[in-house]
Amino acid sequence: MKDEYDVIVIGGGSSGAGTARDCAMRGLKTILLERNDFGSGTAGACAGMISGGVKYLNEPEMVAMCTKEVVYLQKIAKHIVFRLPIITAILNEIDLKARTSGKTDYSKHTAERGASPIMLLSTEEARKIEPKLSDKILLAAYLDEMFIDPFRLCMLNALSAKNHGADVRNYTEVIDVIREGDRVKGVKVRDKKTGEIEEIYGKFVANCSGPWVGKISKMAGINQPLRLNKGSHVVFDRRITGTAVICRALDGRSAYLFPHFDTTILGTTAWDIFGNPDDAETSYDDVEYLISSMEVAVPSLREARVIRTFCGVRPMLPEWWISEDDATRNFVLVDHEERDGVKGYVSFEGGKLVIYRIMAEKMTDLICQKLGVEAEVRTHIEPLPGAEGEVDIELWAEEYNMPTHTVGRIASRHGSNTPEILKLTQENPEYKSTICRCESVTEAEIRYSLRTEFATNLGDLRRRVRLGMGPCQSTFCNFKALTVIADELNLSPEQAHKDAINFAQERWKGKCVLLRGDQVSEEELNQAIYASVANYDNLPGFWRED
Ligand SMILES: Cc1cc2nc3c(=O)[nH]c(=O)nc-3n(C[C@H](O)[C@H](O)[C@H](O)COP(=O)(O)OP(=O)(O)OC[C@H]3O[C@@H](n4cnc5c(N)ncnc54)[C@H](O)[C@@H]3O)c2cc1C
Repeated sequence: MKDEYDVIVIGGGSSGAGTARDCAMRGLKTILLERNDFGSGTAGACAGMISGGVKYLNEPEMVAMCTKEVVYLQKIAKHIVFRLPIITAILNEIDLKARTSGKTDYSKHTAERGASPIMLLSTEEARKIEPKLSDKILLAAYLDEMFIDPFRLCMLNALSAKNHGADVRNYTEVIDVIREGDRVKGVKVRDKKTGEIEEIYGKFVANCSGPWVGKISKMAGINQPLRLNKGSHVVFDRRITGTAVICRALDGRSAYLFPHFDTTILGTTAWDIFGNPDDAETSYDDVEYLISSMEVAVPSLREARVIRTFCGVRPMLPEWWISEDDATRNFVLVDHEERDGVKGYVSFEGGKLVIYRIMAEKMTDLICQKLGVEAEVRTHIEPLPGAEGEVDIELWAEEYNMPTHTVGRIASRHGSNTPEILKLTQENPEYKSTICRCESVTEAEIRYSLRTEFATNLGDLRRRVRLGMGPCQSTFCNFKALTVIADELNLSPEQAHKDAINFAQERWKGKCVLLRGDQVSEEELNQAIYASVANYDNLPGFWRED
C-alpha cells in the first residue's frame, strides 16, 4: 500500500481548506483534495460578509461564536478583511419593530470587534450619509460589519496547509470512497487535468464538500441528506452606493446591496432545491425579485448597469417545516462512527463562511482525539500568508517606482507579501504592465499567482486577483492574461484556446439571464471581439447557440 495519510480532506472551500490547515498545523499528515479550484463552490458564491451575527439574535451562542471569529479574522487575515458601513432602510412600522428589537443586545457585542453600536437615524440623516436612499423610507438604522475576500480566504488556508507540510491538490475529484467493512480506508480520485485515476489511503476521511456532502457520503454507503438552498446575486458595474444598504425584500426576507471592490453586489435569494447543486442557476425571476426589492430603498437601482449574476447552494442542516430565514446557520460535526457505525469518516452539515475556522478546529479536535494526538490549535493566532507583517504602500510604491494605486491594489490582496511581487519587476520591468485595467492587475501579480498560489488558468486568476471581475468582465484582458499564462506554464496554442473558451463560456452562464436593452449591444461588442480575435463564434455556450 502507498503512503497512508492521517487525514484526507475532501473539498477546498472554506471548511475543507480550513480543516486541512488546522490538521497540518497540528502535525497530522494531511492531503487536501478539491475537484475544481479552491473557493469555486459555495464559499466563492457568498457575499463575504463576516457578520457578528446580526441575523441570529434568537441564537445567542451563534452571535457569540460569530463575534469571536470576526475578532480572530481581523488578525489572522487582516489584509483581506474590510469594513463597510451599513444603512438598514426601515420601510414601515412593522419593519421598525422587527429591525429594532434586539438592537441593544447586538450592540453589546459590536464593541468586541471594534464596530459601532446600532444607531437609529432619521430619513434626512440617513440620506446625508447615503444620498441614493429613497426619501420615502420611514427611518434608518446604522451599523457596520466586516467583509472578507472569500476566494483568497480559501486559497490562503490551502497555501498555509501546504506551508505546514500538507499535500494540496486542486482539480482532483473524489470519484469513490474506499470502504472495507465498517471502516472508510481512503478515496479514489481522478486528476481532471491528466485523467489519471489513483487510490489514496488515510486513517480519516473528512468530508467537507459543502452541498456535495450527501453525494460523497453516498459513495461511502451512508445516507446523509442536507437541506440545499440556492442563493443568487446580481453584480453591478460600479459602486452604486457609498455604504451598504439593507432593506426588507418583497417577500419579507432581507435584501442587501454591498459595494464590493469596484462593483456592487445585490443579494440574495433563498430557494430550497432538490436536484444536483451543480445544476443551480440564476433565473430571470431571481434578478427581478432582487431589483424590485431593493429599488424601494434605492430607486435609481433599476437604471444601473448589471454585468453578471452568480449563485451558490447553502449546505444547510436537514431541518424542515421552518422557513429558510428561521433555520439555524450553525453547524453539526458528524462522527459517522457514532451516527452510522462507520469508522474513519467525519463530515460537516451546515455552517457559514464566518465560522469556518471554528468548524475546522472542532473537526481537527475530534480527529486528534481519535488518533490519540495531543496538539493545541493555533489557527486563531497564527496569521495566514500575507497577514504576518505590516503594509507600507507609499514606501513600496517609491521603492519600486510603481503607482501608489497599483501597489495599494496588490497589497489589498497580498498584504505583507506585496514586495515579493514588486521584486519581480526589478529584473523584468515589463512585468509592471497592467493586464486587467478594471481591477488594476499587473503582469507581475499574475506571474506570482501562477508560481505560488496554485493558479493554472484564467478562472483561477479571476479568483486569485479578480482578473475579469470588473465592468468589462474580461472583454479586454482575457487574451492578454492568456499570453502570460501560456508563457509561464508553457501551454500549447490548443491548451491556451481551450482555457479562453472555457472562461468565456463560464462568464456567459452568469450573463445570459440578464441580457436586455443596452446590455445586448455591450455583449455584442464582447462577442465580436471573441469572433474577430480568435474566431470564437458559433461555439457551444456562446450566445448564438443559446
Ligand atoms: C448566496 C449565498 C450567500 C452567502 N453569504 C454568506 C455570507 O455573507 N457570510 C457567510 O458567513 N456565509 C455566507 N454564505 C454561506 C457560506 O457561503 C457557506 O456556508 C460556506 O461557504 C460553505 O463552505 P464549504 O467549504 O462548506 O462549502 P463549499 O465552499 O461549497 O466547498 C465544498 C467544496 O467541495 C468540493 N467538492 C465537491 N465534490 C467534490 C469531490 N467529489 N471531490 C473533491 N472536491 C469536491 C467543491 O468543488 C467545493 O469547492 C452564503 C451562501 C450563499 C449560497
